[in-house]
Amino acid sequence: MTAGVSWGRYPRASQQIIPLYWRDAGLPGAAGSLLPFGNGRSYGDVCLNDGGTLLHTRGLDRLIAFDAGSGVLRCESGTLFSEILAFAVPRGWFLPVTPGTQYITVGGAIANDVHGKNHHRAGTFGEHLLAFELLRSDGARLVCSRADNASLFGATIAGLGLTGLITWAQLRLKPIVSRAIDYEGIQFHGINEFLELKQRHKDVEYTVSWVDCVSTGKNFARGIFMLGGHSKVPGELKPSPEPRLVFPFEAPGFALNRTSVSAFNTLFFHKQRKPHVKTIQDYEPFFYPLDAILHWNRMYGRNGLVQFQYSLPWETAVEGTEAILRAIANSGLASFLAVLKTFGDIPSLGMMSFPQPGIMFALDFPIKTGITFPLLERLGDMTLDYGGRLYPAKDAAMTSRQFQTFYPNWERFARFRDPMITSSFWERVTDTTGARPTV
Ligand SMILES: Cc1cc2nc3c(=O)[nH]c(=O)nc-3n(C[C@H](O)[C@H](O)[C@H](O)COP(=O)(O)OP(=O)(O)OC[C@H]3O[C@@H](n4cnc5c(N)ncnc54)[C@H](O)[C@@H]3O)c2cc1C
Repeated sequence: MTAGVSWGRYPRASQQIIPLYWRDAGLPGAAGSLLPFGNGRSYGDVCLNDGGTLLHTRGLDRLIAFDAGSGVLRCESGTLFSEILAFAVPRGWFLPVTPGTQYITVGGAIANDVHGKNHHRAGTFGEHLLAFELLRSDGARLVCSRADNASLFGATIAGLGLTGLITWAQLRLKPIVSRAIDYEGIQFHGINEFLELKQRHKDVEYTVSWVDCVSTGKNFARGIFMLGGHSKVPGELKPSPEPRLVFPFEAPGFALNRTSVSAFNTLFFHKQRKPHVKTIQDYEPFFYPLDAILHWNRMYGRNGLVQFQYSLPWETAVEGTEAILRAIANSGLASFLAVLKTFGDIPSLGMMSFPQPGIMFALDFPIKTGITFPLLERLGDMTLDYGGRLYPAKDAAMTSRQFQTFYPNWERFARFRDPMITSSFWERVTDTTGARPTV
């Protein structure tokens, strides 16, 4: 057994790890339960299997076929988005949907049905999938698409790795003519101003906002609304250089406190000196600002971090977001990297997908004994009262009661689960004893 953690470095799991290299090999025999594992960029326990075995898919990283006319790519499930971009960008193609890091695998992107800054225009990653192969523990290999094995297709998209091992996938890329992004950044004060900006720029391809959730008073919910689109002017299509900066060690626990985070937030807000800037940016800092420093999660010290990410429907979006932001500011638990977005109304194919039309908000908390988890439970309950839901990919704290209310389809979904597969997340959120995650 090896000790393992995900991106948040909490919780710690003890598990056997079996690397996979060949997509036509069967599932390896192992005592106990299995779980596919991509690149561990989920924050909590959705990619952990305490007491069981992880099937490590990074060895399944081959590009299988590419049609340069239509942009249809077939690749193995352990291929990273960064590897797809290294191949596709010089040929004038880009990912149809990408999250805030390029270091995720295609299998992980399907299993969490990831979303990006263009959800209002493109929906989730699953929307752009043409097919994939699912390998079940009984040896069955099922090619799933909208036409074939359609129920399993819908259960596997956002299926949290529980329906089987995805061995390869076929997806449609989108054309670009340059690495450049036409970028604008606009300062705002408050959620209503954010929504006005969003409405004014609703046809822009990519939008996302950073919001200060430490400040109160006149600076409450101030932020920067960032928008961009792929440049239409033909430009450079060279591959990206490797990132060079690495966060070298676990920071001491006291490094992140209200004063340091408040200073960071003020600096970030004023980094943009004018209320409105327009410029041209490379796609990497636009889509993946955090990837510039490898292992930035070490900044949170030995205890690790948890992310709290919710979506609220339009009816409660403003009231709920303001109430949750106030609860966070009053808690004194410092957090930067707070992201505010809206989700559009393109329905997800995944039975358990997280996005719903409305507001999405995400922020990281350091784990502080006796403080962080009670706060998360309270914020989870507020999310529940406002009719929202939390994102399993980022979660280490939702209770089984919260999960089962957020995802009323969960019992129908459970019928598609492979009987040999489970995860620490699934055991936690289907637990009936009322046990709570805590530190
Ligand atoms: C800095 C950062 C920013 C992020 N931004 C966003 C964002 O903007 N939007 C967003 O949606 N997410 C975001 N995420 C979360 C991330 O995109 C997801 O957690 C993603 O699923 C991680 O992929 P992974 O390859 O690392 O998979 P892992 O984290 O290793 O696994 C995730 C899930 O996929 C399953 N899985 C992996 N491979 C397979 C396979 N071959 N077959 C079946 N199941 C499989 C696992 O069992 C697990 O349930 C972000 C994460 C980070 C660290």
